Amino acid sequence: MSEHNFSVPATIPAHLRSQVQAKLAYVDENISGAAISQDGASILLQLRSPVNQPALADLEARLQSVVIEMTKGAVPPKVEVLEDHLQRPVPFSADPMPELLANGEVSREHAGIYSLGPFLTRLIGVFETYFLQLAAEFEAQPQRFPTLISAEKLGRVNYFRAFPHSLTFATHLREDLHVINDFAEHASYETEGLNAPQASFSKIQALLSPAVCYHLYFALADKPLPGGKLAATAVGHCFRYESSNLNTLERMWDFTMREIIFVGSADFVLQNRERARQHVATFLERIGLAYKVESANDPFFVGEFRKQAAFQNAFQLKYEIRARLPFKDDTLAVGSYNYHQDFFGRHLNISLPDGKPAHTGCVAFGLERLAYAFLCQFGLDPAAWPAPLREARHG
Ligand code: AMP
Ligand code: ZN
Repeated sequence: MSEHNFSVPATIPAHLRSQVQAKLAYVDENISGAAISQDGASILLQLRSPVNQPALADLEARLQSVVIEMTKGAVPPKVEVLEDHLQRPVPFSADPMPELLANGEVSREHAGIYSLGPFLTRLIGVFETYFLQLAAEFEAQPQRFPTLISAEKLGRVNYFRAFPHSLTFATHLREDLHVINDFAEHASYETEGLNAPQASFSKIQALLSPAVCYHLYFALADKPLPGGKLAATAVGHCFRYESSNLNTLERMWDFTMREIIFVGSADFVLQNRERARQHVATFLERIGLAYKVESANDPFFVGEFRKQAAFQNAFQLKYEIRARLPFKDDTLAVGSYNYHQDFFGRHLNISLPDGKPAHTGCVAFGLERLAYAFLCQFGLDPAAWPAPLREARHG
């Protein structure tokens, strides 16, 4: 491993540091870590293997271009805080991850791929019981969605342009006797992956799904929305490749999301999103979580970042529930309230009774993150947990 420190052309503003930093991992396969300094003026880069001076200069130029493209002319967004309970006293302040790994509750199958044991599974079950009650408040109909998602449909909603860095592709061997026999005979796992030639694999028709609600919009595509409005709920595995940013239960490649999804008029979606937020606020108060809800944006890739993030901020399209992680004095998004305006309605041709495109929105919770943030604040001993959670767990 080698380390390099270099300064950036203009200080990276504080509000963009974590978003820029997350993108640096994607600049080169040789990067194992990249950290922006406290003052935003330099980047400390860790490389897996040493490089010569010209290669380093080239790498630096690419990193600089990411910084410039993501920060050029950026004005700090007006962060809107809808709820602030960050200072709620909580009884725990260590990182539960080492103990979860040590006692086998979390086992790491690969970077970003984790199995959870009975303790965490039951805790997530308690949250799920609540989410199902929440869904019932909206008469949200239950749905089951696939883990794979259509490449053709994702293309229709511009996903490849917005989030190319985090895609996970599903493929299979080409229907070719030589290819299949050759693979069966020679495939083995080497340090960095399977040794099979790229040419053995088919073109990509499907990916692993990055979100839950897309499946509902795809199912509703190219027809009028029956009754002009719909509420639905589903839980599903979601996949976001976060490169060297993958660590602990905070950032996974394969995680599960519970969503409550609204499709209808703008008023229907916005009113339900707001009603859901108030309902969830009561729940989070009951379980004593220290958190805030504030405006946010999705992690668009470099080229789309500035325009799209500014758009989301300007139209209050996304709010995140950010739980406090006392052990590192930071916060972690455990859920989000999203409004997509008529984006999916237009691109997928979902129409309302008046012929206009439907509006959509969703309330999404990251189940592993919620459990992890809860344990960061309350620890692994249920005796120290708030009564409603302790009781629900035993009940
Ligand atoms: P989003 O659609 O990006 O707002 O995601 C909804 C929720 O999913 C977030 O608030 C997180 O709780 C969770 N989530 C998103 N990405 C990840 C990830 N890489 N690992 C674990 N949880 C995630
Ligand atoms: Zn969604």
